Amino acid sequence: MKIHEYQSKIIFAEHGIPIPAGRVAASAKEVKSIAAELGGRVVVKSQVLVGGRGKAGGIRVAETPEEAEGIATKILGMTIKGLPVRKVLVDEAASIKSEIYLGITNDRTNRCPVMIASAEGGVEIEEVARKDPGKIIRVRIDPLLGLRDYQSRYLAQMIELPRSFWREFLKITRGLYASYVDTDASLAEINPLVITDDKRLLALDGKMVVDDNGLFIHPELEEMRDDDEIKKEERQARMYGLSYVKLEGNIGCMVNGAGLAMATMDVIKLFGGEPANFLDIGGGASAEKVASAIRIILSDSNVKAILFNVFGGITRCDEVARGILSAMETIDTSVPMVVRLIGTNEAEGRRLLQGQSMTVATSLVDAAQKAVSLAKEGVQ
Ligand code: GDP
Ligand code: MN
Repeated sequence: MKIHEYQSKIIFAEHGIPIPAGRVAASAKEVKSIAAELGGRVVVKSQVLVGGRGKAGGIRVAETPEEAEGIATKILGMTIKGLPVRKVLVDEAASIKSEIYLGITNDRTNRCPVMIASAEGGVEIEEVARKDPGKIIRVRIDPLLGLRDYQSRYLAQMIELPRSFWREFLKITRGLYASYVDTDASLAEINPLVITDDKRLLALDGKMVVDDNGLFIHPELEEMRDDDEIKKEERQARMYGLSYVKLEGNIGCMVNGAGLAMATMDVIKLFGGEPANFLDIGGGASAEKVASAIRIILSDSNVKAILFNVFGGITRCDEVARGILSAMETIDTSVPMVVRLIGTNEAEGRRLLQGQSMTVATSLVDAAQKAVSLAKEGVQ
């Protein structure tokens, strides 16, 4: 789960990281009064859970409270990468001398946290990583020992941070590591960490992703959930206990088991198709569950064919077939369907689906090829 910049910054501040004075607001009026309170120049920042807000025009500096109000009116009406701006953060504006990148994330290959720093932080960091990877400095952190000061000094040295900032930089790296550990985060990032004209280090941006599986021990983080982050269909799927991720293709997939769902998507791609979604219906296959899965798949107008791939284990194939049959009584669609059933009671399952307006297949290869060709016909 991602959390907003203003929320990340509060966590950072609790761990001793210097952040600009500021507050979050949901209306232009509030923005004006916060700007007046802060006095001087402020920066009005859209709070949406995507990167690149600056480039999208969602971050602007205002010289006066009136100007801040005007800017807020515009930003609060914006949609950035599909997400509506409902809140803005109003921060004291900083005068920036240089922008550093500092972040920590999970290094899956090496199975440990990795802290990353670059002297060339800011909105072009992805570009720097691509064109000049030598400018991105990494240290692996032993999770048992935690971040050691010598590692932070190494980062400071490699990014050529002037000595006078080292003490503060060490404090910030410790704070960032603690923020990451304490919240069970998979990412904690300050981009940019700036050196100001008056020679201070300041975290101007904050981004955190916390592990969904850790949320049950962090009710204070769960409260930060922003439902805009996930799509309506995904929210609905969660309600029915389905794992659904929408994708860009046109073949809807309904599969029992996450691994089998991944394999199904791979096979679709192997035969030249594109999956429209990942969907794991999990164990059991009540008509209600199957019907909600089909409805969610069909809510995507790109879908031109649906492939059911079911491995009958504890969930029996005949049970799934009955689920599909009774779901179809409540759903009216002309989208062609291919069903592949294998495992416990497969013959009975297939028999039940005989004569229905759907293609029944035994092998996944056969089923995927049929779904791919049906989807192609559907596009024409
Ligand atoms: P992002 O685009 O979503 O990563 O948002 P950021 O918070 O990182 O802001 C983008 C850029 O806006 C930063 O890299 C800065 O260059 C600039 N910016 C943000 N806050 C301030 C500020 O207080 N003063 C000035 N001068 N620039 C700022
Ligand atoms: Mn940023």
